[in-house]
Amino acid sequence: MTRPVPKVLVSNNGELLRHFTAPPFKRLELQLLVAPTAAEARALFAKEEPILVVLDADAPDGFEIAKEIKQKSPATRVVLVAGSRLSGDQMRQVSACGCDELLIAPMTADELHDVVAIQLGEPRPGTEAFAITVEISGKRVDATVSNLSVDGVRLMVSEPVAEGQSATLTVSPQGESPVTIKGTCVWAQPREGRTVVGVAFDKPEPQAKAMLAKLTQWQVRKDGERTRVVLRGDFTEATRFDELLPQMVGRITFDMAQVTYMNSLGVRAWCEFLRQARIQGYEFHACSVPFILQASMVRDVIGRGTVTSFFAPFHCIGCDHQEERLLQSAAILASSLEPPVFKCPSCGGALEFDDLPERYFAFLEDEAD
Ligand SMILES: [Zn+2]
Repeated sequence: MTRPVPKVLVSNNGELLRHFTAPPFKRLELQLLVAPTAAEARALFAKEEPILVVLDADAPDGFEIAKEIKQKSPATRVVLVAGSRLSGDQMRQVSACGCDELLIAPMTADELHDVVAIQLGEPRPGTEAFAITVEISGKRVDATVSNLSVDGVRLMVSEPVAEGQSATLTVSPQGESPVTIKGTCVWAQPREGRTVVGVAFDKPEPQAKAMLAKLTQWQVRKDGERTRVVLRGDFTEATRFDELLPQMVGRITFDMAQVTYMNSLGVRAWCEFLRQARIQGYEFHACSVPFILQASMVRDVIGRGTVTSFFAPFHCIGCDHQEERLLQSAAILASSLEPPVFKCPSCGGALEFDDLPERYFAFLEDEAD
């Protein structure tokens, strides 16, 4: 499967250009169009029609060009990069120009990569898709998969299935060899011509067990000096982080984008894990809304670490459109916890932050002092 090489227009800013050549960007295979001047930025945009534009807000006409591009081509994603001494006037310009994201410099290559990958709709490391095929009593069936856990899975099968039949799942993550997991259909209910089936896994092989943990709980990958840990799914009384402890050495980046739910027992297990882990230093990237809601109530959820970026709920009053936007902590701190206003992608109205800033941003309070 090939895709056109995404063209990205970038201001001639040393920090940005250095990051765009850093390891995390290699896999995105972008074509960079570097614009040294405002005139060249306009000309390159008109000629090349890039799908993403990353503009230095401090460069001449930075806000103006962002606004022109969003007016001419609303589908083009525009990211503005500003310094941390953002004035109230500049913050208003950020909202008025209709840009899709604001980044505060200096930033790390990882931070820029998270924003670019999300804007381009590309998977970030650890969020790659996986394919699952299903066999019932040895026969391949058409099935959709939900509620995958280390213990079992729920299937919607396009034909009748009886309790007690065997089930075999073959999981093929992108770029890795497939793993087979065997189980038994423990319940089956007909529904609208199909069958909803609960499968309990037999005691999985170590390789299958590791794969299930990776797909449903966490994935650890060495990333140069750092270790990147992608957490997944629900944190509840059933979640055990013990098996993750031995790998928690050195500097860690936790990617929390796929944490879907945390109850109080899950919060307790997570805080206990952070206390026990012998980590030198750690950061949280792309934190999900459920994680931030807990972190803003219970300080120990981020322990000694810092939140680099996080998702926040946004809402358009005009058309009722809702979406989550990735915000950089530095951008919220630079604006004294004032959330940005974006342009609604559905109706062009104001896409506004949909929570109470003092409640949602409470996890930043220690840094705001
Ligand atoms: Zn709208």
